[in-house]
Amino acid sequence: MSRSRIHSLPPQLINQIAAGEVIERPASVIKELLENSFDAGATQVQLDIEHGGMRLLRIRDDGIGIVKDDLPLALSRHATSKIASLDDLSRIATLGFRGEALPSISACARLRLTSRAIESDSAWCIDADGTECDYTVQPASHPPGTTVEVRDLFYNVPARRKFLKSEKTEFAHIDALVRRLALSRFETGFALRHNQREVLRLPPTTSLRDQEQRIAKLLGQTFIDQALHLAFAAAQMTLSGWVALPTYSRAQPDMQFFYINGRFIRDKLIVHAVKQAFRDVLYQDRHPAFILYLTLDPTMVDVNAHPTKMEVRFRDSRLVHDFLTQALGDTLAHARAGRVAHREDVAPPLPISSLTPSSPSKHDAPQSSGHGQASSATPRVAETMPIYAQLSGVARPTLPANPHDMPSLGYAIAHLHQTYILAETARGIVLVDAHAAHERILYERLKQQSAKRAVPRQPLLVPESLTVSLADADLAEQARETLLEMGMEIDRVGPETLLIRALPAWLGAVDAAGLLRDILADLREHGVSARLAAQREELLASIACHAAVRTRRKLTVEEMNALLREMEKTARSGQCNHGRPTWVELTRQDLDRFFLRGR
Ligand code: ADP
Ligand code: MG
Repeated sequence: MSRSRIHSLPPQLINQIAAGEVIERPASVIKELLENSFDAGATQVQLDIEHGGMRLLRIRDDGIGIVKDDLPLALSRHATSKIASLDDLSRIATLGFRGEALPSISACARLRLTSRAIESDSAWCIDADGTECDYTVQPASHPPGTTVEVRDLFYNVPARRKFLKSEKTEFAHIDALVRRLALSRFETGFALRHNQREVLRLPPTTSLRDQEQRIAKLLGQTFIDQALHLAFAAAQMTLSGWVALPTYSRAQPDMQFFYINGRFIRDKLIVHAVKQAFRDVLYQDRHPAFILYLTLDPTMVDVNAHPTKMEVRFRDSRLVHDFLTQALGDTLAHARAGRVAHREDVAPPLPISSLTPSSPSKHDAPQSSGHGQASSATPRVAETMPIYAQLSGVARPTLPANPHDMPSLGYAIAHLHQTYILAETARGIVLVDAHAAHERILYERLKQQSAKRAVPRQPLLVPESLTVSLADADLAEQARETLLEMGMEIDRVGPETLLIRALPAWLGAVDAAGLLRDILADLREHGVSARLAAQREELLASIACHAAVRTRRKLTVEEMNALLREMEKTARSGQCNHGRPTWVELTRQDLDRFFLRGR
């Protein structure tokens, strides 16, 4: 191999190499430039895009601007106004600090920087294409603030240009990015135009109501209608924002916005903490939707971990993790039936379609679960259902004189199609999915008792024996201790024979064998391991699901009211264990709207 001598690279090449890390496509340029505008304290930014940003990207702000003599520096590598020492690096409060964005961009596009510093009454401008070492600063006309114009991105980097997609795709990336950043700066107004057409206009906001309007514009009205607002502070951290109810969960993790000190972050630790908080109310393959803002002392987090600054390092990651899990867990636990995010002021008409039950999933109806022997094969089930009767005190179904004395889920009127409870409330009517609601109540109760290791057991008068496969008998044996803690006492009395000796007391008289078969089927599916204890909650959910009342029978008014009262008391009763809603409400206004009354 022939020898190449070592030589220094020309500045433009150095900058092009650096650009490779942060400038991948037009949207990455927008990210850097918008962040600069934010750092400059802009209250209004105007973005003009042409041809997906490949021909032109222009961003104008009304921030503090750049003084004339600093203009050439702004385009030089490792030149920044944001940090000066290592100490500053450990407490970064700005979005930028590396002093690399403008030189990187100018090395792979034609860049014009025009600015008027707020303290000055003249504006100046420089052009750059990354080859120069000397800049000519020219007078310009510009209000206080800065405009950066970037033309012909990658005109001199064919390898990069090849990877650009269609105009539509590139603009879609820009649009998504601007939305993401607009969620991080409510106090800044945004205007976005593509090929001279206005795509987005967001006025600056201050009130919570205006913020929610911006969110509705960016993510859709349904998100905000289904979201709970939260604000927590502890251990010198604050967490605020919105989480959508589990019923608004998504098939993709595409509505997850997390900001740390105003910076959008994708971080494993955070994903994990959020997942943990949702694990009770969301089915495995569903993803929660949220916009969350974490603020903490800049010294507690290192943002200098990655060139695009999308990942961070926490000084005390355990603390942050637990704070998130707790704050979110609390918020979800308070989403009880009857207290779910009602927005009196902006209550939208409920679309009729939302009244139809969600499409059946594997867990919806016991009949469809493939292991539904308990419900269909045993007529006893129908008679042994007075589980409701064991629920707490039965309310009198007469309407009180004062509507404020009415419980939030009201009083039952009818059991429709042997599935839904219809109840009249002070505000209108509610429909409750009796099976889903009951399942949630049982689960919450089981969970509480099992956490205290105090699930009361009821021995069966006559222990019930059942024959199962060898594999299932093994499963039951492995799970014995855990099941015992959950109130089920099961012994293996032969290679393929199990004996049920006791059940959780609150279950009442259920089809014990059918229940155990269902639970074994779930265990088989999830696979039992030595870590069975770690799957406690899945197992509890499985018991609750299979033990929940089968909605095949007409319920009495007393039973229905008992269920409604229990729902009002139970945490997270707004969703069943699979995240489906347990109830919907139609207010008087909704009903009036359906019938075009009062117009
Ligand atoms: P960094 O943001 O990491 O400091 P940049 O290359 O993005 O590096 O910008 C270099 C400098 O130019 C910044 O430190 C800032 O002083 C100045 N600057 C860039 N854009 C703007 C703007 N829109 N308004 C005011 N100053 C700006
Ligand atoms: Mg910057």
